[in-house]
Amino acid sequence: MAADLRSHPEAARAQAPGFYRYRVGDLLVTALNDGVLTRPLQEGFVRNASLAEIKAALKESFVSDEQVTTSMTPLVIEDGRDVILIDAGMGDNGPPALGHLLTNLGAAGIAPAAVTKIVISHLHPDHISGLRSKSGALVSENADIFVPEPDWAFWTDDDNRSGLPEGAAANFDNVRRVLGPIANEVRRYRWGEAVLPGITAVAAPGHTPGHTALMIESAGQRLLFLADTAGQPPLFVRHPNWILAHDMDAAQACESRVRLLSEAADSRLQVAGYHFPFPCVGYIERAGGGFRFVPAEWRPTV
Ligand SMILES: [Zn+2]
Repeated sequence: MAADLRSHPEAARAQAPGFYRYRVGDLLVTALNDGVLTRPLQEGFVRNASLAEIKAALKESFVSDEQVTTSMTPLVIEDGRDVILIDAGMGDNGPPALGHLLTNLGAAGIAPAAVTKIVISHLHPDHISGLRSKSGALVSENADIFVPEPDWAFWTDDDNRSGLPEGAAANFDNVRRVLGPIANEVRRYRWGEAVLPGITAVAAPGHTPGHTALMIESAGQRLLFLADTAGQPPLFVRHPNWILAHDMDAAQACESRVRLLSEAADSRLQVAGYHFPFPCVGYIERAGGGFRFVPAEWRPTV
């Protein structure tokens, strides 16, 4: 076996396609990996923890303490009427490790043109860039796009640019590139509202001003899409008071994280985290002063 793989080095390195299906009530959910970004771990990745503390936390969860791995996983939800994409990945606008959503969508048998609705959790590039290719074309031309009102208000107002670090300032240009040409057609949703039937916007501000989680419900079952409420589980689920460098409002981000992780743990909710390890679905349990992510069991049938 091993000898065969070594004689086909490309096949031996390739992974199975990055999609995974499960059901929430009558809904069919497909998790689609957009890629996995690996960067050297640097001081400051967590604003209020030392490098030694971060390394210890990574080690405790059996992952590398030399680098930080960020997986990106949008979802597709099919209800028999609509094909709903939840967040859109980086598209062809980022590093080559990202932008695999369309490949994995194809592997799952879903054409981009079949997508009828797109719900965006917040306007950071790793969630919206995939809406529009570098060439300028919308990837799912006919889909209605829904964004959180407070993020739309923040990122489309250039007055908010000043005083932000360079990376954050570039996000304004990206919002304009991706959504500017269709600004009049973009639909804005509010917290507490049903964005679409069975998909309710849950306030989770802090990571960005309008960062939103989504409660997805069908036939008595629920899935809480956490988006970026908590990033890498070894760091931000285990230590919900740790502040990611990109969390724009530290106190708000912590409040949202603790509130939603507590609700998930206490209600034994199924959750999906955009930056959790693929396929990003599982449960939250209380552990020590924080929480722990427990991946859902892989199922051979949907
Ligand atoms: Zn993100």
